[in-house]
Parts: sequence; structure tokens; C-alpha cells
Amino acid sequence: MELARSNSGDKNRTRRRRPRGRTPDTTTRAETQSDADVEAGARGSNGSAKSEQGVATRTRDESRTDSKDRPKRRRSASGKPSRGKSSATVETPVVAESGFTKLGLNATSLKTLADIGYEQPTPIQVSFIPIAVKGVDCTGQARTGTGKTAAFILPSLERIDFASPHPQTIVLTPTRELSEQVANEARRLSPGHNCRTAVLVGGRPIRRQLDELQRGVHIVVGTPGRVIDLINRGALDLTRLKVVILDEADRMLDIGFRPDIERILRSCPTERQTLLLSATMPPPVERLARRYMKDPQRVDLSEDTVMVDTIEQYYITVERDRKRSLLVKLLALERPAQVLVFTRTKRGAEELHKHFAGRLPHVDVIHGDLHQSKRDRVMRRFRAGEVRMMIATDVVGRGIDVSGISHIVNYDVPEDCDDYVHRVGRTGRISSNSKGRAFTFVTQGQGDELTRIEMRINEMLPEYHVDGFEAYKPSGPRKTVNDPPPELPHQVDEEEFCVFVD
Ligand code: AMP
Repeated sequence: MELARSNSGDKNRTRRRRPRGRTPDTTTRAETQSDADVEAGARGSNGSAKSEQGVATRTRDESRTDSKDRPKRRRSASGKPSRGKSSATVETPVVAESGFTKLGLNATSLKTLADIGYEQPTPIQVSFIPIAVKGVDCTGQARTGTGKTAAFILPSLERIDFASPHPQTIVLTPTRELSEQVANEARRLSPGHNCRTAVLVGGRPIRRQLDELQRGVHIVVGTPGRVIDLINRGALDLTRLKVVILDEADRMLDIGFRPDIERILRSCPTERQTLLLSATMPPPVERLARRYMKDPQRVDLSEDTVMVDTIEQYYITVERDRKRSLLVKLLALERPAQVLVFTRTKRGAEELHKHFAGRLPHVDVIHGDLHQSKRDRVMRRFRAGEVRMMIATDVVGRGIDVSGISHIVNYDVPEDCDDYVHRVGRTGRISSNSKGRAFTFVTQGQGDELTRIEMRINEMLPEYHVDGFEAYKPSGPRKTVNDPPPELPHQVDEEEFCVFVD
């Protein structure tokens, strides 16, 4: 079977159609890009869609020169970040000038940054750090994977008294996986300070967390449920806290988490610094956030960068019952290094996993109903590259920073447009060397949902057509009203599964 990419011919073009309700004249940046342009972009589909997106692609290509200049993560000559002693006992290190020098950070942090190979600050770091080091409240909005964690950890290191064993910074995140990730970055950024960081999340033995708190920690990173549990047990004392950080703030302040967040904030001193970061910050969330902050400053780098310039994004129109076959075909064509497939529901994720698990190796699933030890195992295997296709729901997929993810598949259109931004941001990250590709499966009744996403990201997505694959039934006139719609031929044979394995 011919699996190489090829241009779709005229025959395919005439069959292609827009999902219902899709309004071409959205008020997006692509207003000037006519419907015909979009069709033209799709015409070259597959490999050639990339080169035929016209204006939209050229704009992205131009902006890609920026990303080439972006600092690459590099390790120190020894291959490891150097372990230091307490800042009180270390002589002030002499550090060469770098883009970080003027941000107001101390010499120990500057040395760590040089050691771990952060040569230039990212835009969110340039804008956010100088405000946050002053100790004032601040909200920061920037797309995921742009160095947000360092933007809030570095300034909070400035405020910690490392001689005191009490928690002075707390970072709250919506998922356990994100807490781990933030804590790892905090540890990476703080060896010279002799800073201790604890991860306080559910699904893990509480005993170890109690011991860690007993021994003394400076930064705690956790999910709200476990943090409250530890406060209630009298093990976590937040009265000496100096900085409170809400990561993925839009999610932390939505109705599900809000009571917990309020409960935690009541345990914190009123004289504190509050920092909020998120890729998306809808106005109601921002208004709510201000209730917990004092005259917050605002750093908004979301304009124009919501549309991630390191990611090629497409939609594919598909019949609901063809989605699975389409996914197989797409895997065979794209041969992703690693792919994250998003479903709307845990059940949907399980079903998809059940279908693929027997047929493909290196496939796994992650969602909120799984036991934490299983979630940890899956994440570890995914990070190590042992899992090649991970099926995930939005909640758990959020914030995952795995540099190997080359493809995102929105198997189900996300319920919320902001979730689209979060999902797609899992690929094309600063930690990856290559750009990513994202595909959104859209059924014919979901045109409005697609339009809302396009308005959110301020760009029209080109359609992608998989050659030789009938993604939906032709709607030609039936001979009589009682005729059933024509059946689609069976198009995916099991051999294609093997192609993904290669
Ligand atoms: P984050 O947005 O915090 O998840 O960061 C994404 C990735 O970028 C992480 O792997 C960081 O280690 C890395 N990173 C953050 N800041 C920089 C920088 N200034 N230079 C190079 N890599 C960075």
C-alpha cells in the first residue's frame, strides 16, 4: 500500500467540504485570507499543505527566524549543574554578562543560569522577572513552554531566607504532573542557594511529605487537595510565606478549585507577594484574580504569540465513526516521534487506548481516574520516549513538558477554546529542537466550534486532506429517499499499524 505523502488531485478537492456552521468571515487576523486561499492551502494537503498556506505560512516562517535565535538549553562543561553551598557561605560568584544580568537577579542565580546553559532570557522572563523581583503582585500571560516556570521561580529565590527552614514560597498547580515538573525546574535553578523544594501532591505516600516538611523546606509545590490536608494536619505552616504562585491560574481559579484556593490563601499572611501565570487569562478570571492581589501589574505576551509560531496547525473534516481509521492513517503518514492524542472524556481515552493497545506497541493512556502510581509510570515512560503515542484528557495533559512530542492530535475538538491553546502548546516547545504539528479532527456539525478556536488563536487553520482516505460520506443525491447513504469502503488495513512502529 502506498503510504508516501502525495498531492490530492482534483477528484479529492471536489469532495472536500467545510464542517457545517463554519463561517469563513471570522474576525480573525486572517480576514484578508479569502476562503479560496484556505481551500488553496488545503489543496496541497499532506506534505504540500505546508508550502501552500500562502500568507499565513510565510508570516510564520518569517517569525521563525526569532525562534532560531532562541537560547538553546545547554549543560555545563561537566554535564551537570554545579552543586553549591548555602549562599551565606559562598563568595559572590563572578559571572559573565548575559541577557539575564540586567533583570535584577543575584549573582548566585546568574551563575546557575550560566551553568545550566540558559544564555538568554525568554520574552516572558525579560518582562516578568524585573517586576516580580521588586516584590509586587503580578499576573503573567504567555503561551506554554516559553519559560514561565523560571520567570516565577527566579524572583522568588530572591526573597527566600535560606537560613530559615520554613516554607517561604508556595506554587499551586492543577495537576500532580505539573507540580513535579515545576519542582524539578525549581531544583535546577537553585543549587547555589542550598534551597530545599518539596512536592506535596495526592496519590503519593503522605509520610514522606510529612518527613520532608519536618526537616525543613523553602519552596513547596503542590496540588490544592494535598496542601489542604497537610495544613489541616498541622504539618504545613504557611505563616512565614512570602510568595504565593498560582500556575495555570485560569484553571486554579475556575469553579472546581476556587474554594480550595481560597482556603489556602486564608492560611497565608496577607502581607505577601502573589504571582499568577497562565497561557490564557479570560477577563472573568482576571477580575476574580484581582480579589486576591494588591494592585497587580500585568505582563501580557499572549498577543500574536497565542498562535504558536513553532507549530503547524491543521484541521481535518471527518465522520465521527471514521476518526479511529483517520488516526491510524495519519500516524502512518506522519510517523510522529511522539504523539499526544487528546480526547474529551476519560471514557473516550480508555476506549481509544483499548483499541490501540492490542495492535500497537508503545501506546499508553493517562487521565484523572488512574491511580497515581500508574500516572507516574506512564509519564516516566513517555518522558523516556518509551511511549510513542499517549492518549490523554485535558486536565492531565495540561502543562506536560516533554521535548520529544512532535505531534498533537485533537481527536475530539476541545470543549473550551483555551484548552486548544493548552493542548497545542505541548509541542513545538522551547525545549524541543524542531517544530511540531497539530491536527484537529472536526466533524461536520462542529464548524462553529472550529470557528471559535480560530477566533481565539486569531488565525484560520488550513484544512488537511489525507490522500486516499474517505474521511466522510459523499452527500450526493440518493435515488430514492429510502436509500441508505452510500457505505464507505473499508480503508484501513491492519498492516498500516505496522508502519507507525517502523
Ligand atoms: P516552561 O515554560 O517553564 O515549562 O519551560 C519550558 C522549557 O524551557 C523548560 O524545559 C525549561 O527548562 C526551558 N527554559 C526555560 N527558560 C529557558 C531559557 N532562558 N533558556 C533556555 N531554556 C529555557
